[in-house]
Amino acid sequence: MKIIYSEDHNLHSGLLDPRGETWGPSAECPERANNVFTALRDQAFGEIIPPAHFDDEKLLRIHEPDYLQFLKNVWRDWEASDESGANARPDTFVGAGMRHADTECVAGKLGRYSFDATSPFVAGSWQAIRTSANIALTGAEIVKSDERMAFAACRPPGHHATTRYCGGYCYLNNNSIAAQSFIDAGAKRVAILDVDYHHGNGTQSIFYARNDVLTISLHADPKIEYPYFLGYADEPGEGRGHGFNINYPLPFGTGWDSYSVYLNYAVDEVRRFAPDVLVVALGLDTFAGDPTTYFEITTDEFARMGAAIGALNLPTLVVLEGGYSVEWIGENTVRFLSGLETAAG
Ligand code: ZN
Repeated sequence: MKIIYSEDHNLHSGLLDPRGETWGPSAECPERANNVFTALRDQAFGEIIPPAHFDDEKLLRIHEPDYLQFLKNVWRDWEASDESGANARPDTFVGAGMRHADTECVAGKLGRYSFDATSPFVAGSWQAIRTSANIALTGAEIVKSDERMAFAACRPPGHHATTRYCGGYCYLNNNSIAAQSFIDAGAKRVAILDVDYHHGNGTQSIFYARNDVLTISLHADPKIEYPYFLGYADEPGEGRGHGFNINYPLPFGTGWDSYSVYLNYAVDEVRRFAPDVLVVALGLDTFAGDPTTYFEITTDEFARMGAAIGALNLPTLVVLEGGYSVEWIGENTVRFLSGLETAAG
C-alpha cells in the first residue's frame, strides 16, 4: 500500500491548548504524524511518496470560497492587527440571535469561521493545512488508478471541519474532499466510515442531504463527549440523503467486544450500499492508552479493526484523523493498515 506523507505538517507547530488556568502544548502536535511516518518507514510497510499539488477548485467542491480566503489570510491579518499571542485563536462566536455579518477585523473573522477555540493558527498553518488536503487528494488519485488502497498520512486532521467552519483541530475536511474527488471522477457511490473516537460532525454535515455519499461514524456518545452538538443516533440524513447517515454513539469504556459488534453493523451497512470506493477516516484515539479519551481498543485490536473493514474488499483510501498517544500512534496505524491489507488479500 502506498503512503502519502509530507514534512509540511511540521509548519503547523507550537499550538496551544487550554490547560486549567494556563496554556499547554496541544495534543495535536507534529510528533503524531512524525511517529506515524517513522513507524511506517521503519517497518517498510510500503512506498512513501510526497503529495501532488491540486488547484483550489478541488477544495471549493467542499468548502465555501470566503472560508478558504479566511484560512489563507488569517495569520497575515493576525500579525497586522493589534491582537497578540503566539496562536491566532477566536474568543467570540456567533450565537443565537446574532448576525453572520461581514466583520472585517481578524478577531471577528476568527469567530465567524470557527465553531470552537481548539483550532489555532500559526505562521505555517496554511501551508500545512493545504498540504494535508493534497495528501488526501493524492491518495484518492492512487486509488483511482491501478492500486486498490492508499494511506493518506494527513496532519492536521479534517473530519470536524465543515463547509465553512474550522474546529476540533480541523480546517479542511480532507476525507470529504477526497470522497468528492471520487464522485467527480465518475464514482456513483462513495462510503465514508469514520472510526475516530470523536464524531465526524464536519463530514456528516457536508453530505447530510446527499445519497451518493454514505457517512457512518462510530464514536463516543456526544451526550458526554466532544463535539456534543452532533453525532446522535437519530440523525438519519435529510431530503434525498435520508437514510444515508448512520451514527453509532458508544459509552465511555467501550472495548473491542462491544466495539466490534457495532463495527460489524457498520461494515454490513457499507456492503449493502455497495459503494465504488470506501474512505476510512482513521482516528487512533479509540486506543486504550490515549491520554485524551475513554475507549479501550488495544494495539492488537487495531489489526482486527482493519481486518473487519478490509474484508469488504473495496478500493479503499485511509485518511489519518485523530489519535493523541504520541508513543503508540505509529504502531497502531501500522497494525490497522496491516489488518486491512491482509484481509483484503
Ligand atoms: Zn478524535
